[in-house]
Amino acid sequence: MKRREEMTFLERIYILEVLRGIGITGSRLLRNLFFHLLHLVGMARGVRAAASIQYPNERRVYPSRFRGRHRLTLYANGNVRCTSCFLCATACPARCIYIEAVEADDPHVEKFPHRYEIDTLLCIYCGYCVEACPVDAIRMDTGLHPEVYPPDPRLFIEDKETLMARSRELDDSGVDTLFERHMKRMQDLERRPGV
Ligand code: SF4
Ligand code: SF4
Repeated sequence: MKRREEMTFLERIYILEVLRGIGITGSRLLRNLFFHLLHLVGMARGVRAAASIQYPNERRVYPSRFRGRHRLTLYANGNVRCTSCFLCATACPARCIYIEAVEADDPHVEKFPHRYEIDTLLCIYCGYCVEACPVDAIRMDTGLHPEVYPPDPRLFIEDKETLMARSRELDDSGVDTLFERHMKRMQDLERRPGV
C-alpha cells in the first residue's frame, strides 16, 4: 500500500483508481463465469474457475503439521492413556477442556478420566493441550478440521468416547480415509440438511 504522500495526483483523487478496481474485479468475474460455463459443458476441466475450494465436494490438502481435530491416544489394550493430570486443561487458553478424574483399579495407574470433554466451539486449535500432556495422551494429528454444521449442535462438545473412537478409526483406516468419510458426511448433510 502506498502512503498518501507517495501517491500521484491522479491516485489522490481516487476516481481513476476506483474505475481501475472495478475493471480488475469485473474482468475476474467474467473470466470465472466463462470457465464455469465451459466446465458445465465438460470443457477446460484443468483450468480453475476461481481460487475458492468447493467444500465439501473438493478437498484441500492440508500440510502434515496441520492441527486438526483432537483424539485421545490409547494403550495396546484399548485403555485411554490419559492419567487425568489436568495439565492440558490448565494450559488451555480457551478453558474448553472438562475432566472428571476417578481412581483406577490398576495399581500402575493412579487416575483416569471418567469424563473428558472438549468444547470445540470454544477451542481455538492452538495445540497447547498437546504440548502440555506429559504422557502423549492427546494429539491433533487426525488431519480433520471441525465439522461446520453437525446434525446435532451438541456434537460440538466431543466426549471421551468420541475422542477415543477417533484414535481407533485413525489406526484402522488412516488419515485419508478419515477425511473421505468426513467429506461424505458433509456432502450428505448439505444434500439433506437436518437429517
Ligand atoms: S487446542 Fe488449544 S484451545 Fe483447543 S483444547 Fe487444546 S489448548 Fe484448548
Ligand atoms: S490428556 Fe494428558 S495432559 Fe490432559 S489430563 Fe490427560 S494426561 Fe493430563
